[in-house]
Amino acid sequence: EMYARQPIMAGNWKMNPSTEADALNLSTGFVALLNEMEDTCAVDESEGCTEVVLFPPFPFISKVRDVVGPHGISVGSQQIYYEDKGAFTGSVAASMVKSVGCEYVLCGHSERRTMFGDSDVNINAKVRKTLEFGMKPILCVGETKDEFDLGITKEVCAMQVSKDLAGVAKEQMKDVVIACKLQLCCGIYCFYPVIIIIETTLAVLDEPVWAIGTGLVCGNNEANEIHKFIRTVLEKMYDKEVAESTRIQYGGSVTPDSVDGLMAMSDIDGCLVGGASLFADKFARIVNFK
Ligand code: PGA
Repeated sequence: EMYARQPIMAGNWKMNPSTEADALNLSTGFVALLNEMEDTCAVDESEGCTEVVLFPPFPFISKVRDVVGPHGISVGSQQIYYEDKGAFTGSVAASMVKSVGCEYVLCGHSERRTMFGDSDVNINAKVRKTLEFGMKPILCVGETKDEFDLGITKEVCAMQVSKDLAGVAKEQMKDVVIACKLQLCCGIYCFYPVIIIIETTLAVLDEPVWAIGTGLVCGNNEANEIHKFIRTVLEKMYDKEVAESTRIQYGGSVTPDSVDGLMAMSDIDGCLVGGASLFADKFARIVNFK
């Protein structure tokens, strides 16, 4: 295949777990499960395997790297500041996370945008700083609930991709991953009102609840359509090669139950996993998607 895209699974721990001991338990539990599994693509460095990255909180990065690094799993930073150093109390620079072994940096996560005021201008500076220090940004884009309700998901994604990648050269795009967080498209929440109706009806008819599952297929197609759309944005900004070779992850409520369907879609190259990455068994299953 001309534009083969290596799958990439990212575990975004967010502000979890509470202690270093718990972070080490989670990491050792995860690598132990990967080694036990038959399709241990995560620990096999041959071509065609799945790339795996963990994003622990800052204080745990070094020790988690020591546990997972020997198994071919990399670590990344959930956040950086775009200045190199100086009087920026509470901030962490690209050089610092690079020096403790980070290969990736999450840029523009929805929680940073909505709770910590990350603007597209700041996010763009962080993406470029990440690349300048030889690390790879995972640029997160996606809709808020209001934007989903307004039906402007594509417009929002197009604007974020173009603003956040401004000044990033075509040659640098091989190191850029995009994560598209569609909180409401693929999860069960999108179909919540429908599910209530179906559940109520099924309860009355005494039918099994598996019928609900059909909704997820529609979600996968919707997500894939947004991923395809992002490629058209990349093609306008760069060219066909960048559009077809950039890896685009799906993000939002990914679980062992939903991962296989998502990964079967043509334009979904991996997942950005939050909640489920806090369970060694769940994340190991996600990484070993079928
Ligand atoms: P979630 O988080 O899988 O818990 O929805 C994904 C993310 O926000 O990184």
